[in-house]
Amino acid sequence: MEKETSNKKAIVIGSGFSGLSAACHLAKQGFQVCVIEKNEQAGGRARLFEKQGYRFDMGPSWYWMPDVFDKFFQNFNKSTSDYYDLLRLDPSYQVIFGKDDAIQLSAKLEELKQQFEKIEVGSSKQLDKFLKDAAYKYQVGMNDLIYTSGSSISQYMNSKVLKGLFKTDLLTPFSTFARKYFSNPKLLQIIEFPVLFLGAAPKDIPALYSLMNYADMQLGTWYPMGGMHKIVEAMQSLAIELGVQFQFNCPVEKILTLKSGMAYAVQTKDKTYVADYIVASADYEHVEQNLLDEKLRKYSNKYWNSRKLAPSCLIYYIGVKKKIKKLQHHNLFFDANMQQHADEIYDHPNWPTQPLFYVSCPSKTDKNVAPENCENLFLLIPVATGLVDDEAIKEKYFQQIMQRLEEHCGEAISPFIEYKRSYAQSNFIADYNAFKGNAYGLANTLQQTAFLKPSIKSKKIKNLFYTGQLTVPGPGVPPAIISGEIVANEIAKIEKIKAKNYERAI
Ligand SMILES: Cc1cc2nc3c(=O)[nH]c(=O)nc-3n(C[C@H](O)[C@H](O)[C@H](O)COP(=O)(O)OP(=O)(O)OC[C@H]3O[C@@H](n4cnc5c(N)ncnc54)[C@H](O)[C@@H]3O)c2cc1C
Repeated sequence: MEKETSNKKAIVIGSGFSGLSAACHLAKQGFQVCVIEKNEQAGGRARLFEKQGYRFDMGPSWYWMPDVFDKFFQNFNKSTSDYYDLLRLDPSYQVIFGKDDAIQLSAKLEELKQQFEKIEVGSSKQLDKFLKDAAYKYQVGMNDLIYTSGSSISQYMNSKVLKGLFKTDLLTPFSTFARKYFSNPKLLQIIEFPVLFLGAAPKDIPALYSLMNYADMQLGTWYPMGGMHKIVEAMQSLAIELGVQFQFNCPVEKILTLKSGMAYAVQTKDKTYVADYIVASADYEHVEQNLLDEKLRKYSNKYWNSRKLAPSCLIYYIGVKKKIKKLQHHNLFFDANMQQHADEIYDHPNWPTQPLFYVSCPSKTDKNVAPENCENLFLLIPVATGLVDDEAIKEKYFQQIMQRLEEHCGEAISPFIEYKRSYAQSNFIADYNAFKGNAYGLANTLQQTAFLKPSIKSKKIKNLFYTGQLTVPGPGVPPAIISGEIVANEIAKIEKIKAKNYERAI
């Protein structure tokens, strides 16, 4: 593996996908890299725990945009297959609209178009047109926009996407855009689902993000055998191969700075770690507000409180001692009022009246994640940030969604539960220092896209950088991996300028 060498040191705070990606890229550039992580293992929001023979992925379960993972490993002359086996799921996922009313979406485009046509006459042709536009946005977005540091508007002015601004309805609200193609409410729910990953309601997401539909319907839904944590294990093992060191159970308490405006070290309970560069991949708000003196912060409490956060989640990790026939690997319960739930997450934050929810059942695909004849279930309700959870609330919603789950499956599940753990806003705060208990960072609304996101580079400390889901490009595993690469490239640029200046001086 190609690797430059230098005696410069970089510290990465946090070992989520963005931190791991930044660490690998910086190590390849020749830095001595140390990742300092608060928790006991790598992965951040994508950690893993094992109980009673069940292997639970704690966060992400959808493997989308396989090209981003491929590209990451190719940077190091590796491939995903060096680390894990990928399987394309077919059906991609199931959507449950109500009692005895569900659709399993085919991974084959021709079949999917027929499924659309059965619901709304003419919609298969519309889907073709919609996906053609989405493919263009995906290609240009991925090539021109997403790997950009967002440090100024000028970076975007030459992009093909912005040049085509008026041709492609880029800034139209996604919900309006989708209605130009489809009118059946079920099809609209299917088309609007992928943008929920971006952390806002479809009415607040620009139509640029129909690129997510291309990711869904054409690039497909994949699964790394063994579970999503296999990706973390792969990136950590690559990092170790590149010489990266890891310190676990080691929360950073302060970033230490010199009068000259440079950071020189991070302070943990037991030790000071000196570095030439610091990359903070922990939640941006936590780093600025808690690890820096007030005069060194770019953003105020007022700024953070005015940001539109992506949702938090109520999660239940369940081990069930039997097989459940009517579940697929991914199951979206859209059997309630989506508009009302979205309103209770984003516009009038409150506990939901009757939430939509999602069930992942990886044991449908992978026998290694549950004991024989058992199911591994991950139940997730998106909820507003900033709410205070307690056991009674968690139990109330558990009962509510279990009833709907049992109704859909047509069989009892509760009496067969042999393991159950819940997770909510307070856990996100305690485990990840997550601002208001957010799960997915900042929403990708128009006002918080690209150069309008919190800056990847500290404005006050020259050698302090940020990465991860609260800066560019945004929430999700692929964006977090890209974010780590962007920040490492920014540091490489500075090093290049320094080297040139040095050459000139001698
Ligand atoms: C429940 C859930 C489901 C999701 N589902 C999907 C999905 O299906 N597909 C998808 O693509 N994305 C999904 N996402 C989003 C995706 O997981 C995240 O966007 C991504 O993992 C964020 O990575 P990150 O590196 O930005 O942050 P994190 O993973 O949060 O990493 C930050 C790290 O910093 C550490 N840290 C915090 N404070 C300190 C400190 N003071 N000192 C040292 N370390 C510190 C934290 O412990 C953590 O390890 C999901 C997220 C959640 C929570």
